[in-house]
Amino acid sequence: MAVPFLDLTRQNRQVRDQAVAIFHDAVEHSAFIGGKRVEEFEQNFARFCGARFGVSIKSGTDALRLAIAACGLEPGDEIITSPFTFIATAEVITQNGGKVVFTDIDPDTYNLDPRELEKHITPRTRGIIPVHLYGNPCAMDAILEVARKHRLWVLEDACQSHGATYNGRVVGSIGTCAAFSFYPTKNMGAFGEGGFVTTQDEALAKRIQALRSHGQSVRYVHDFEGFNARLDAIQAGILNEKLKLLPAWNEERIRVAAVYLDALAGVGDLVLPRPVEGATHVYHLFTVRTARRDALQVFLNQQGIGTAIHYPIPLHMQAAYQYLGHAPEDFPASLACSRSVISLPLYQGITEVEVGEVIGAVRKFFS
Ligand SMILES: *Cc1c(COP(=O)(O)O)cnc(C)c1O
Repeated sequence: MAVPFLDLTRQNRQVRDQAVAIFHDAVEHSAFIGGKRVEEFEQNFARFCGARFGVSIKSGTDALRLAIAACGLEPGDEIITSPFTFIATAEVITQNGGKVVFTDIDPDTYNLDPRELEKHITPRTRGIIPVHLYGNPCAMDAILEVARKHRLWVLEDACQSHGATYNGRVVGSIGTCAAFSFYPTKNMGAFGEGGFVTTQDEALAKRIQALRSHGQSVRYVHDFEGFNARLDAIQAGILNEKLKLLPAWNEERIRVAAVYLDALAGVGDLVLPRPVEGATHVYHLFTVRTARRDALQVFLNQQGIGTAIHYPIPLHMQAAYQYLGHAPEDFPASLACSRSVISLPLYQGITEVEVGEVIGAVRKFFS
């Protein structure tokens, strides 16, 4: 039986009737930008994250971009992040006039290794962007300790980790601020693009609010130059409906992950995902590691089982970052993971039979 890597219709059909009503209402009122739906969603999602302030944004990338701009940096200032992430995390640093500084990951968690951080701090370092990759929170205590010591801001890239917790706190409420994405494939996806910034800092929230709308505080009064990076009202309405279901959806992901973890323990040379101490992983992706990755992927595809590689080329080896002059071995854990990771099907609505099919095929490959 074929098992798709991802089937978004299973999540989206659950809010079809609400979405139709929202579209209908949007046409009747012809109010598409700003308004009650947007404000309601901002309050609800900020509360969900345990954050005092929430600013909805057009995409996760724009959320990162505006958060960096609001946190502040001078041209040439250095921002530290992981080379083992989606390029959006890094490109917005450069686009804000900063310099990208990579620090290697801990291969146990796929997240920034706090023990590596301090080696990369210079007098020009201004901030750190830890990425809660695959839905797995970073070791935030250690990262915040380094940040405090060197007076750096910390922007959580929470684009893959809606609802994950670390020492009892929801991601998005831990750093200086956090960026979320509602790209359709994320744990909670819009019917299009969407993003969000959370923070506990009112002044920062106000700056981001102005930045997303051309630096304007009052209509046609511009305190500085900004962007057009607003979330539209239809997306906010749909996300409001999905937010009611997100806790149950995350629970479901965690239950499926537990089945995989149990059934795949000790199979071949597989390395299974492991949350850091005190964290709950929300399994945006269920990513494992094996020296026989490419062969496993071919085998699973032959059985009709979809897989994906997150990510095949670490950022320091991308053509886009050749100018930084890194050798592949500069970040050995990121390099090794890029060659050995493979993501298995895990999503809201995947059936027990499908999960069993994946487990059977993986076991067969290693037997
Ligand atoms: C998806 C994602 C982004 C970008 O979000 P968009 O909404 O697609 O712009 C940034 N960082 C990470 C880690 C992501 O997974």
